[in-house]
Amino acid sequence: MDNNNLTFFDAKVRIDDLKAQIVHHNEAYYKNDAPEISDFEYDELFRELVRLEAQFPEFATADSPTKKVGGGVNKSLKELKHKYRLYSLDNSNNYEDLRKWYSRTKKEYENEPDLELVTELKIDGLACALSYEKGILTLGATRGDGVVGENITENLKNVKGIPHKLPEPIDIEVRGEVYMPVSSFERLNSEQEETGGKVFANPRNAAAGSLRQLDASITAKRDLHFFAYAAIYNGENAPKTHFELLALLKRLGFNTNENSVLVRGIEPVIQACENWREKRFNLDYATDGMVVKVNEISKQNELGFTARAPKWATAFKFPPEEVWTKLLDVELSVGKTGAVTPVAILTPVRLAGTTVKRASLHNFDEIERLKVNIGNSVLIKKAAEIIPKVIKKKEEEDFGVYLAPKYCPCCNSELIKPEGEINLYCPNKKGCSAQIKGKIEYWASKEAMDIDGIGGALIDQLYQNGLVEDYSDLYKLTKEDLMSLELIQEKSANNLLSEIEKSKTPTMTKFLTALSIKHVGKETADLIAQNFGSLEAVLSATKEDLTKIDGIGEIVANAVVEFFKDEENKQILEKLKNFGVNPLGSSVEKVSDVLSGKTIVITGTLSQPRNYFEDIIKSHGGKTSGSVSKKTSYVLSGENPGSKFDKARELGVIIIDENEFNKIISDGNI
Ligand code: NAD
Repeated sequence: MDNNNLTFFDAKVRIDDLKAQIVHHNEAYYKNDAPEISDFEYDELFRELVRLEAQFPEFATADSPTKKVGGGVNKSLKELKHKYRLYSLDNSNNYEDLRKWYSRTKKEYENEPDLELVTELKIDGLACALSYEKGILTLGATRGDGVVGENITENLKNVKGIPHKLPEPIDIEVRGEVYMPVSSFERLNSEQEETGGKVFANPRNAAAGSLRQLDASITAKRDLHFFAYAAIYNGENAPKTHFELLALLKRLGFNTNENSVLVRGIEPVIQACENWREKRFNLDYATDGMVVKVNEISKQNELGFTARAPKWATAFKFPPEEVWTKLLDVELSVGKTGAVTPVAILTPVRLAGTTVKRASLHNFDEIERLKVNIGNSVLIKKAAEIIPKVIKKKEEEDFGVYLAPKYCPCCNSELIKPEGEINLYCPNKKGCSAQIKGKIEYWASKEAMDIDGIGGALIDQLYQNGLVEDYSDLYKLTKEDLMSLELIQEKSANNLLSEIEKSKTPTMTKFLTALSIKHVGKETADLIAQNFGSLEAVLSATKEDLTKIDGIGEIVANAVVEFFKDEENKQILEKLKNFGVNPLGSSVEKVSDVLSGKTIVITGTLSQPRNYFEDIIKSHGGKTSGSVSKKTSYVLSGENPGSKFDKARELGVIIIDENEFNKIISDGNI
């Protein structure tokens, strides 16, 4: 965003907005290992905030995310207070900023020759600290917010490159990055996809998700490695330079990265960044940039730290990766609601560390806009680093435009384009196997009924063998049915049956999500669940009843009413009921009515994740909403509240903090 002409007031609004966005993305990235935007987009937000705070220092509060190390701790893991603080790194995405960093640093040593620097690859994993006492690994933790991390000692013992015992009985704290090789990440994701497990966005999230497990045996099954890149060691013959320290770590049995080099002055560092820009994709681990560190440890001590990062080191982040490749084909994929979407099949290329063979083309309007066809050279980019997308074609190539299909690629029914919708749909809900299998797969997914072990391959077999025709049929499966399938042994048949049994009393939110109602994802399902006490009430809800809910509009209301009016859906619901699948009355267990009739909006960072407070609100009879309106009863505001806070002030909605909220709940009066 161009901030050059911001007024004082606009700057405050933008700063608050950026802070709220960064806090939100920190939580998704660090606590849930599930980023919603790409690192590049995150870094853009962060740099804009740094720039604005420098321009308007009166708004640069001490609690800003620019003054803190970004991570937090997952409350289900044990906390560990670090003996020595851990820091982040400042970073830039251009060589000018690297040169500026060097001039600032060199200024402190004006009369000396160019400084000795070490350039290293910036490994894209998870920072950890390992404490050794008398040569024995006693504690290991994640970085967390730099002061408190998560105690994952047992898990770290399963990481390759971390010795449990050192060859010398010394006290030392070693820091480094836990990572998952790209090849292992790709293997893990295809296994997870097969079994319906969590698919990770990138190797970094896979490493973090695998390491931050309550059960160390899960970590042991994942291929995790460690590169040591720092240590605090004050013993005998302590190294005087960073480069010597790396050699010591190697001697002690740690895995260190062989690409670290000692140079003088900043220009060779820039040269190294240039060299590694492309070359890094030949490595079997992900790197997101380069790190440069002042070599002499005495100088590091003199230069010191800011609140968030060392002044004696900085990082250069590689730009987001885009590559040209060829569009070989367009695959038409039929989703669970019948939407037919185009997927680009590409000549395989390496992009941001993984091999890409497919990319999103979104919909046929997008194909029309891009004017692409099979045979075109296309530029692809990783968006939220999950599914790459096609951004454009080579302008000079003209192969015409890929035409939208008229018939369903799965069942050949004529496709329809409902008014006001972008997608084409196959109307054949009953006979289109892609829709049926898609619905069953979604029914079993984590987000919906969470039935572990039911993935695409098993559903294919169940369907082909005539054992399931819709998701309700999962509940009539017997052990014999399952064991008649290839690859299913008695033990896994038993496990599957007990998983299916366990799913019979879902929350209303999960149940409504699982039904695959068009336009109804988890959030909308939750809104409906919160507003209607029972499934019967949802079934008889009219369009008007539904549109009264803040956050539900005409299109969604129509889709819900149509869904429950449909004869076939009625039959499936009846079957579910007969098999004993009964959603609990509301999305959480009811504790009191203190908040009955109240709608609460949450903003900012609270002491617990947002869904913790949402559940409390619901359990006391209240409702939550994602946006502030005149109908909002309270805004529960934490640190760094976002634009919802300002909106509440504007509309005169009561704003409460966490203490006031807790008091309302415990006193039982408002
Ligand atoms: P960082 O990843 O930019 O840099 C600091 C980290 O680099 C260290 O903690 C260490 O883990 C790592 N590192 C790797 N190799 C190293 C080496 N050789 N020497 C020293 N350190 C090395 O900073 P951060 O605070 O961990 O995270 C911020 C970054 O995380 C952002 O810039 C962004 O890329 C990403 N992020 C993304 C999202 C998102 O939503 N996509 C959200 C939050 C953070």
